[in-house]
Amino acid sequence: MSRRRKKESKKIIYGVLVALLLILGLIFGNNERVSSIVSSMNILQNEENSTIQNTNENETIEAEPVNVDSNLIVDFIDVGQADSILIQNEDKVMLIDAGTNEAGKTVVDYLENKGISQIDYLIGTHPHEDHIGGMDDVIEAFDIKQIYMPKMETTTKTFKDVLTAISNKNLKITQPNKGTQIELGEAKCKFMTDPIIDKDNINLSSLVIRLEFGNNSFLFMGDAEKENEETITWPKTDVLKVGHHGSNTSSSQEFIEQVQPKYSVIMVGEDNSYNLPKQETIDKLEEAGSKIYRTDETGTIEITSDGNEIKVSTEK
Ligand SMILES: [Zn+2]
Repeated sequence: MSRRRKKESKKIIYGVLVALLLILGLIFGNNERVSSIVSSMNILQNEENSTIQNTNENETIEAEPVNVDSNLIVDFIDVGQADSILIQNEDKVMLIDAGTNEAGKTVVDYLENKGISQIDYLIGTHPHEDHIGGMDDVIEAFDIKQIYMPKMETTTKTFKDVLTAISNKNLKITQPNKGTQIELGEAKCKFMTDPIIDKDNINLSSLVIRLEFGNNSFLFMGDAEKENEETITWPKTDVLKVGHHGSNTSSSQEFIEQVQPKYSVIMVGEDNSYNLPKQETIDKLEEAGSKIYRTDETGTIEITSDGNEIKVSTEK
């Protein structure tokens, strides 16, 4: 039954009760008592009405702005067919992935041009060359505080180079689980899933990070696939770094409906041999009303937040 109908039928019942009481009052001649009962019923009904009004008001109230005193800067660095994302807040720095072996120098130069000398959190989402290829260069060039990688190993030279760079600097790898949290200045980061360890599909070991900054949020999927997406219910998020370069092995309909990203970033190389992103993924994101940015079309994409408003600027 609809709320309006319920209200109407309540009114009818109320009317019948009042009439009955009045008749009883006339019969028994105790008018004073009857009118006091009627007025107390009025109060009850008024209270009910005011509760309904309050509920309606609550539905339209917007989220209280959360105060942050700084700006968050997220750079999706154009490293061709690869990922590298620089996140800065206050004086804290996080780097998610470092591009290919070839792009290592590009990433190092990009950070140095920003005046960065220290990386508080270096994250290798999973041990594929397009994500950790440039990590050895980054480890050698900067003062690294903490390294996060999944519990996944490969036998490639790229992976060994990263391990060598880590041990040369006497660093150790932290392997986060679902729920592990990191604070980056005023931003709160959380690892959303447990990596799935499957030697036949290294993408499934991807670390997935959600960042909250004031009322804004970001979700960095690495190369996580549908199998990873299925493991949790995803909170609504403003900016989505689309999983696996826009491949159709990621970004299920259900996942996109849960996340409802206002902005989607696809990190891909121009004319890449994988033919990514897939049209299917683009269609799904557009249907969900998401504005899509692609590194192959615009170069590096910088997204900033003051905790309430998101601004996007692109290199090209
Ligand atoms: Zn990749």
